[in-house]
Amino acid sequence: MLAQEWDLVVVGAGPAGTATALGALDESPGLRVLMVDRADFPRDKTCGDGIAHHAIAELASVGVRGVEHGWAPVRRLELAAGSARVSSSRDRLGWVIPRAVFDARLVERATDAGAVLIRHRAVQVSADADGVTVDDIARASVVVGADGPYSVTRTAAGLAPTGRRALALRGYTATRPDWGGGQLIRFGEQRQPSYAWAFDRGDGLTNVGYGELLGRHVDKPPTRDLLLHELERILPGSTGGGSDFRAHHLPLSSWRWPHPDGRVLLAGDASGLVNPMTGEGIYYAVATGIRAGRAAARAIGTGDPSSTGGSYRREVRHLLGRHLRHTSVAARLSGMSAVVAAGIRAASRDPRTMDDLIELGLGRGRITPRLGIGLAADLAAPSTVMSRTARPTPDTEGA
Ligand SMILES: Cc1cc2nc3c(=O)[nH]c(=O)nc-3n(C[C@H](O)[C@H](O)[C@H](O)COP(=O)(O)OP(=O)(O)OC[C@H]3O[C@@H](n4cnc5c(N)ncnc54)[C@H](O)[C@@H]3O)c2cc1C
Repeated sequence: MLAQEWDLVVVGAGPAGTATALGALDESPGLRVLMVDRADFPRDKTCGDGIAHHAIAELASVGVRGVEHGWAPVRRLELAAGSARVSSSRDRLGWVIPRAVFDARLVERATDAGAVLIRHRAVQVSADADGVTVDDIARASVVVGADGPYSVTRTAAGLAPTGRRALALRGYTATRPDWGGGQLIRFGEQRQPSYAWAFDRGDGLTNVGYGELLGRHVDKPPTRDLLLHELERILPGSTGGGSDFRAHHLPLSSWRWPHPDGRVLLAGDASGLVNPMTGEGIYYAVATGIRAGRAAARAIGTGDPSSTGGSYRREVRHLLGRHLRHTSVAARLSGMSAVVAAGIRAASRDPRTMDDLIELGLGRGRITPRLGIGLAADLAAPSTVMSRTARPTPDTEGA
């Protein structure tokens, strides 16, 4: 079979893939763009369904508005670790939209803009001096791999599988009154770093889940039963009566974002971009997808598609480079329960510190001086030092 010719082929039509198509077609409306996905849409994707407002703002930059319509905005974010707790009301936190809905809406917008979608499981992506071939079905000047954490395109780009990973399980259950209108994140204390969440969708159902960093508990690795057990332990009552519990890997971002030169680009999870503090990946997927699409369209337009990888890498590093270094540090610190609790207490004392935490966890924020000082002050406070070093035991209590 002769491979059909395209300007741009996008492998995967999740948020990163559709954003790539949208970015390319916004830059160059006549471009021939093919998206291939192994699934039919609408399809489920194991996720917390939390869509940060940053992702919605990125979509607006390519003229896509209203994908959140019909879903209630999240107005409250609660963080808890042990006895430390902060609850914060905000107008611009985001939405909780089932991925079956959100991703299908993005596919519709991308095809409305002119992209073609076919169902196909890509097995082999191979680049040569003149172009890139996807199996025997398509050939293009540039290929963008947006095929998630188990990306086959990543191998074609010459990159090893992504580094640190987390494993998380999610399900749906009836919304409890204390979860209404909000996103609750409760950090674990036994299998650090880990957390459980309850994200109210606003339609009577809440997305509940639990995730932890892989490789920390080699003696007792996370099984499905263990993930469910931890979820129930941290958020009692969240698993009974729930449904659709499924687990999936998250490829966590690291200090540096490696990306090769050339005609094969990677976006979203395929490029190893999930916030290592929060597990947020949709904003990164949309932001990198749009930039990959624009970079491809520009390079094709100037007749130099082999330069795409380099210009895309520079753009993403310009956008996210410092942020990734800061989240890398923050993620390592968040392996310590005392630091997590100190951060939450600092946020509870100053709403601006809470804003800084939200930007770091959901957008492209940094560890601001205010956040650093708040954290250090809390950790140095006599009450914190006391509770860390001289926790009362049954023997010393009341002595
Ligand atoms: C349990 C859990 C909870 C999470 N919660 C959140 C959250 O609340 N908020 C948030 O922002 N992020 C969350 N994330 C992360 C988020 O789900 C991902 O970062 C996001 O889906 C990345 O989008 P993507 O387009 O890169 O990849 P995906 O959404 O995985 O899309 C990849 C697409 O590629 C297709 N595909 C894969 N392989 C092939 C192939 N060989 N050929 C053709 N098509 C292929 C797939 O069918 C899929 O449609 C969570 C992740 C997990 C596992």
